[in-house]
Amino acid sequence: MTTSRTAIVTGAARGIGAGVARRLAADGFAVAVLDLDEQACQQVVADIEADGGRALAVGVDVTDEVAVGDAVERIAAELGDPAVLVNNAGIIRDNLLFKMTLADWDSVMSVHLRGAFLMTKAVQGYMTRSGWGRIVNLSSTSALGNRGQANYSAAKAGVQGFTKTLAIELGKFGVTANVIAPGFIETEMTMATAERMGVPFEDFKAFVVKEIPVGRGGLPADIAHAVSFFASDGAGFVSGQVLYVAGGPKA
Ligand code: NAD
Repeated sequence: MTTSRTAIVTGAARGIGAGVARRLAADGFAVAVLDLDEQACQQVVADIEADGGRALAVGVDVTDEVAVGDAVERIAAELGDPAVLVNNAGIIRDNLLFKMTLADWDSVMSVHLRGAFLMTKAVQGYMTRSGWGRIVNLSSTSALGNRGQANYSAAKAGVQGFTKTLAIELGKFGVTANVIAPGFIETEMTMATAERMGVPFEDFKAFVVKEIPVGRGGLPADIAHAVSFFASDGAGFVSGQVLYVAGGPKA
């Protein structure tokens, strides 16, 4: 029996999501570590438990309406009613517009927008009924436009509009909704970008870091810190905001 609040982090088997899950557990939340593959979530769960926290590995595709509904019910039963949702699951299918396929477009839209929609719809009732909730959605500096990312830029700009509307609709129930828009963060996603460009990751990183005012690449912990703030009790008057976490004013 516990009185801790429950947080769900999607795409939490690795990268930013794993960092966010660990941080929210350290903040005292029971954390559902949700990703496509339940087995892949086990290490993050084990790390959280080793540090004395509570966590649950949940394998689900966020674009699958039935699976999302079942997963959220299971999380509520096994960990407690969800009070925090971090829509972090994401994919990239980069290409210049003339080479981008409809499948590249649809799959990126689906994970970022359909996924965030389905997850949010499935948890919002728990939050509004309890009168307290925190929704944090992951956008990107690419929402401002980025070569080779017509699909991803559109999805990440869409996440911002979606979140602002959540803030308006859910505010009166004690639920806030905010966006974090990271710049360059060292994860397997940015490693994949370097690979697609045919450059070693360290060279790619050095090239990007030259343009970052604080002079380093971002880490999952940098994003987790911002999520921790939005998820906190004290952030209840902050809603519908977009926080660029990019080591400077732009990527
Ligand atoms: P990542 O590729 O390392 O991790 C993403 C995770 O999402 C993976 O574990 C993957 O399995 C999971 N996922 C993908 N599709 C899913 C689905 N349909 N259902 C459930 N899980 C799914 O990426 P990351 O770098 O950690 O990025 C996390 C989020 O931050 C993404 O939304 C990404 O767009 C955003 N972001 C990342 C960066 C960066 O520089 N890394 C910058 C800006 C925004």
